[in-house]
Amino acid sequence: MIRVRCVNCNITRHYLPGDLAKLIGDIPFWDVDRHMRCERCKRRDLDVDILLPSASEGLRIRVRRLVEIRMVRRVIWSDEE
Ligand SMILES: [Zn+2]
Repeated sequence: MIRVRCVNCNITRHYLPGDLAKLIGDIPFWDVDRHMRCERCKRRDLDVDILLPSASEGLRIRVRRLVEIRMVRRVIWSDEE
């Protein structure tokens, strides 16, 4: 399990490595902070840690699961001079 803390908001979120791999690819956990932003402040001041299953079982942590990845189609217009 991967623990990501936003230094700015002081919010901690927990993710499963498999979910993060779907999102940002199979990268080493110490690189996760370079590929993620805080969902609230959108900053990259993240503190990333690995939690061992035995420790997390005792803490009864709520894990943030990935539901869906949506690719948004955005239309960009420009006026011709
Ligand atoms: Zn934040």
